Amino acid sequence: WKQIPRLFPRYSRHLSSPICAQYEAVSHGQHQLPDYFNFASDVLDRWSQMEKDGKRSSNPALWWINGRGGEVRWSFEELGFQSRKVANILTDRCGLRQGDRILVILSRIPEWWLVMAACIRTGIVIIPATSQLTAKDIEYRLQASEAKCLITTDALIPVVDSIAPKCNFLRTKLMVSSEGKREGWLNFGELLREAPDNHTCVKTKMHDPMMVYFTSGTTGNPKMVEHTQGSLGFRPIIGKRYWLDATPLDVVWSTADTGWLVAILGSFFDPWVSGSCVFIHSLPQFETKTILSTLYQFPITIFVSPPTSFRMFLKEDLTRYKFMSLQYCISGGEPLNPEVMEQWKNKTGVDIYEIYGQTEAGVICSVSKKMKIKPGSMGKAATPYDVQIVDQEGNILSPGEEGEIAVRVKPKRPLGLFTQYINAPKKAAMSEQEDFFLTGDRGVMDEDGYFWFIGRADDIINSSGYRIGPFEVESALLKHPAVAEVAAVSSPDPIRGEVVKVFVELSTSYSTQDKEKLTLELQEHVKKMTAPYKYPRKVEFVQELPKTQTGKIRRNELRDQEWGRV
Ligand code: ATP
Ligand code: MG
Repeated sequence: WKQIPRLFPRYSRHLSSPICAQYEAVSHGQHQLPDYFNFASDVLDRWSQMEKDGKRSSNPALWWINGRGGEVRWSFEELGFQSRKVANILTDRCGLRQGDRILVILSRIPEWWLVMAACIRTGIVIIPATSQLTAKDIEYRLQASEAKCLITTDALIPVVDSIAPKCNFLRTKLMVSSEGKREGWLNFGELLREAPDNHTCVKTKMHDPMMVYFTSGTTGNPKMVEHTQGSLGFRPIIGKRYWLDATPLDVVWSTADTGWLVAILGSFFDPWVSGSCVFIHSLPQFETKTILSTLYQFPITIFVSPPTSFRMFLKEDLTRYKFMSLQYCISGGEPLNPEVMEQWKNKTGVDIYEIYGQTEAGVICSVSKKMKIKPGSMGKAATPYDVQIVDQEGNILSPGEEGEIAVRVKPKRPLGLFTQYINAPKKAAMSEQEDFFLTGDRGVMDEDGYFWFIGRADDIINSSGYRIGPFEVESALLKHPAVAEVAAVSSPDPIRGEVVKVFVELSTSYSTQDKEKLTLELQEHVKKMTAPYKYPRKVEFVQELPKTQTGKIRRNELRDQEWGRV
């Protein structure tokens, strides 16, 4: 079965249907966007029809494993059949209507894909959330979003029950559970067995809300970001090649947690626009060895994971694995250090294409298949965005000049960008300046239109008037064999105001070395690798760096600690 992808006929490369012709026309600027669009009826059901007509390979639509022998392989037809049943559960048994919100706290289990598709069929607005949430987090999300329904699994049932009485908008609780009955809960599996499979997909408008995401909360309380049917479902159609660039022959695996936008992009909309197979490992724990052996054993062709995964993979003995089917990897969510990219390529022969994005905007910059890779760069503006580097007044800066990374929103807000921060209109207004949406990230564009990340605006270190981006310091340190993970932040200094301080997690072979000697060695190393003024004047060795639930380094926590703000 390792040969499977190669055996598929080549004729069904792209979605060929009337709506596809319309998409092509839109992408060539010939038409206005259609008023109505629904991903379930316009994309998923089209693939299902193509399967019936014998025009699509037998590549499953969803291929799920749990690593303990459990496996699910659904065609688009099966996915359609099951998700129509779920649509009936949501409307008939949960009483939800188009526009109502549902909080979905499911780990990587097949039911997640069914619920996503069913919500799209019914126009119910999805709020995906990670299973790592605590009672407080869930209460905050239920109250802030006014969700009427929640769906989750066994582990979180007592947690939800502890706060549900305080959540006055919540009406129905659905559990995906092997337990038969539980007071106050509807059993999803039982309802699914009985539910009718006939359902007519609602007609949703392109600009109807589809999903509400809570951001990662790297810099504060998570914000509620609203996306439309078009911004998530239609955007990959007009820019099919802008990052994933998959075909019906591909098997795409994204390890992202279901609570984050990248999961729905990498494991739902973008691969399914191209008719690819979405591969999922339930990954109850993020185990490096499990991921590597899955990449080795299954015919995965495109692998999507954040930089922290690749940094962890490089700590393993990679000579033990051969990735026969893997064509390329994609990484985003944090800066990808060039050193990591080069080492991965040397050891596996596979490239990593970097993407840069936000919950608010999806993918903003990307390196795609046919582009030249410039290690350390996040690639070029992703379709349909016009991305520029601007100053504080929103003026466009020239190539080579550092400023804020921004997406043009005038005269027309581009498809893909969120509509609003729910309940925080001021925040949305603050993030716009003249013709641009400001990302809050600083960077530089080069003469070829490639973007280079410098740091989150708040993370920039200002030492004696020199502005230093943490990414460059961290990348330099990662080139040293002693350094496994590192974060650079500003720290107070009586003379310079601020200096660079690094928190270093050592690789195992260096953990017992003399720390004073090592500090000097690392400082000298940075001086050699970058402009000497960027070297870390302070170095602290730590067991573990603080991270968000998405695995991003929380530099702001370390910075606050330094400045006595905790
Ligand atoms: P919050 O907005 O709640 O503080 P967050 O910004 O981490 O959290 P996300 O929307 O998940 O929430 O993350 C987007 C941010 O992640 C970007 O603004 C950027 O700072 C960072 N990021 C994403 N991709 C890259 C990349 N390729 N290189 C550098 N940074 C990246
Ligand atoms: Mg953010």
